Amino acid sequence: MIAREAVISGQVSMAKLARVVDLLADSSGHAWVELAFAKDDEQRWLISGNVSAECAVFCQRCLKAMPLQIEQEFHLALVSSDGVDLPEPLEPCLLRNDSINLHALVEDEMLLALPMISMHPEHCNTHQPQAVETTENRDTRRPFADLADMLNRR
Ligand SMILES: [Zn+2]
Repeated sequence: MIAREAVISGQVSMAKLARVVDLLADSSGHAWVELAFAKDDEQRWLISGNVSAECAVFCQRCLKAMPLQIEQEFHLALVSSDGVDLPEPLEPCLLRNDSINLHALVEDEMLLALPMISMHPEHCNTHQPQAVETTENRDTRRPFADLADMLNRR
């Protein structure tokens, strides 16, 4: 694929990306993957591409599922050992037994794109309406209670 400078793209079932699905609230759907294989002037083997997916994670505050858009671009150089110096923006991708598992590569990139802690921005919607409701109830009940007291006194 490197020699042919192949470009492949397509969708991968989320269920097949086991290490990613473990961290999601929903295992349905697909990830869109595009991979381009090439060799650079330094004879480095390169895989660049991107992965995107619309998935759902658990909010760490209210524990409800929330949507999360994953969008990750990467530029990898295949290396046979750790500690190889690479110019920007290349990141090392370790070859194991002279082969590479593309599923594992996509999983790794998606894991990098997941936030450490997922939370609804600003407010958790599930909590907000409840809070509004209780304050409304308090405000509306008190005047009527006062009115009833006044009527009773007369
Ligand atoms: Zn939340």
